[in-house]
Amino acid sequence: MPESPRPPRIVLATRNAAKRRELESILAELAPHIVLADADWGDVEETGDTFEENALLKARAAHAASGLTALADDSGLEVDALGGEPGVRSARYAGAGGPGADGANNALVLSRMRDVEDRTCRFVCVVAIAGDGFEHTVRGEVEGALRREPSGKGGFGYDPLFEPVGWSKTFAEATSGEKAATSHRGRALRAAVEYLVGLPRFAVDPS
Ligand code: IMP
Repeated sequence: MPESPRPPRIVLATRNAAKRRELESILAELAPHIVLADADWGDVEETGDTFEENALLKARAAHAASGLTALADDSGLEVDALGGEPGVRSARYAGAGGPGADGANNALVLSRMRDVEDRTCRFVCVVAIAGDGFEHTVRGEVEGALRREPSGKGGFGYDPLFEPVGWSKTFAEATSGEKAATSHRGRALRAAVEYLVGLPRFAVDPS
C-alpha cells in the first residue's frame, strides 16, 4: 500500500493559549489538513517600528528554532488623533508592560484624548509567515471609535474602550465568538491560512 503523505505542519510563535485556540479553530474550518505543531524558541525583543517588522522577527525566530513554517502576530491600537499611537507600543504605552498594564494604558489613552472630538481608531494585527526561502505578511484591521470611559469586563487590553463601527457596545461587552468573528486578529489569521493553502506544500490536495 502506498504510504500516505505526511500532513503539512506549522508552528505559531506565541505562548498565548487564546491565540493558539483561535488559530486552531480557523485551521479546523479552512485547512483541517494542516497540523499546528508545538515548538519552542527563545524570547524575541520587539525592536521594530512597525507591526510587520515585529511579527517577522518573531516568525523568523520560530522558523529558525523549529525548521517548520512559522506564523507570528503583532498587534495594537491606532488612534488617529494621537498620530497612530499607541501603535506598536500598545502593550507598554504607559511604561511597564506585563500584568496590570492594561488599566494604566487605558487611563493614559483616555487622558490624552480627554478634550478630543475625533475618536476614530482601529485595531491592527499583522501575521507574518516565515518558511524555507519565503516570508510573507498579511494585515487584519477593525475600525472603531474610542469610548470616553471603559465599559465591559470581557476581553483584554483596550477592549473596554473600543466600540467597533456599527456596534453599540465595546469589544469587552461582546462574547468571545462575536469578537473573533470581526476582530483584527481573526481577519489576519484567516488571511494567513488562505495564503498558506495557496502554496503547493500546504495545498489541500498536494498531489
Ligand atoms: P500583542 O501583539 O498581541 O502582544 O498585543 C499588543 C498589545 O496590543 C496588547 O497588549 C494590547 O494592549 C493591544 N491589543 C492587541 N490586540 C488587542 C485586542 O484584541 N484587544 C485589546 N487590546 C489589544
